Amino acid sequence: MSGSSRRGFLREIAAAAARAAVPDEPRAPEAPIPSAPAPLLSDDEIERYSRQLVLPEWSELAQIALRNASVMVIGAGALGSPVALYLAGAGVGRLGIVDSDVVEISNLHRQPLHYTPDAGVPKAASAAAKLRFLNPEIAVEPYQVWLDAENAAGLVEGQDLVVDCSDTFATRYAVNAACCAAGIDLVEGGVVGWSGLVMAVRPGRSACYRCAFPVEPVDAPSCAEAGVLGPAAGVIGSLQALEALKLLTGVAAPLTDAFLTVDLATLEMLRVKVGRRPDCPDCGE
Ligand SMILES: [Zn+2]
Repeated sequence: MSGSSRRGFLREIAAAAARAAVPDEPRAPEAPIPSAPAPLLSDDEIERYSRQLVLPEWSELAQIALRNASVMVIGAGALGSPVALYLAGAGVGRLGIVDSDVVEISNLHRQPLHYTPDAGVPKAASAAAKLRFLNPEIAVEPYQVWLDAENAAGLVEGQDLVVDCSDTFATRYAVNAACCAAGIDLVEGGVVGWSGLVMAVRPGRSACYRCAFPVEPVDAPSCAEAGVLGPAAGVIGSLQALEALKLLTGVAAPLTDAFLTVDLATLEMLRVKVGRRPDCPDCGE
């Protein structure tokens, strides 16, 4: 198939999928799909995102929702690498990367956004450079800053979604509180040793991270202490990216009111139901 006829074919599929998606199956009211007639995808976009667009569940509208979305990724390390790579590749229009660290050689086995020559370079800048190569169609904004309870609200303001790829409970609680206060959807994640966890949050409509984990576990080990394998972090980060795409497009049901634990040694997954706590300090009444 020639280049132009292939593009025509893909455009036909995308348009058919968009037509099929609109009248018969109205989306949930919270799905961030633009209601006004949206501009069609360009030929370059159809080529770049063709393998998503041919999915029966996907549509041109879903792709446009990604193009219009702003997402902040907190942390450009073991989880943030796969999250940012997949969201940039998928076509999220504006991607912010928050990380205060510089690249260290001991990061490289699990953080595929950074390479050996990046040692000493700020991770946010290293990540942004790779992501711009991956997808020049999107805007990538690096923020070399440590997120804490003081600046979290400012960093997440105006975002459609936050993906928390940090590695401390203090940061997770700060991100959760800021997202709940601002009503911003959130995907939480964590990995250490051989196990990881993923949870999607729609503030005000589903249980938040603080509902699931009201207090910080005592003696929670860090990756420096307990170790972690690169592919284990890759699995958890990939699941976070998947949940982010679901929340942004309304395609498929997100992992809300539950968290998923993944044991990478046994490959066992456990979905644990979580209810909203009326007395939750972050999302309670
Ligand atoms: Zn809560």
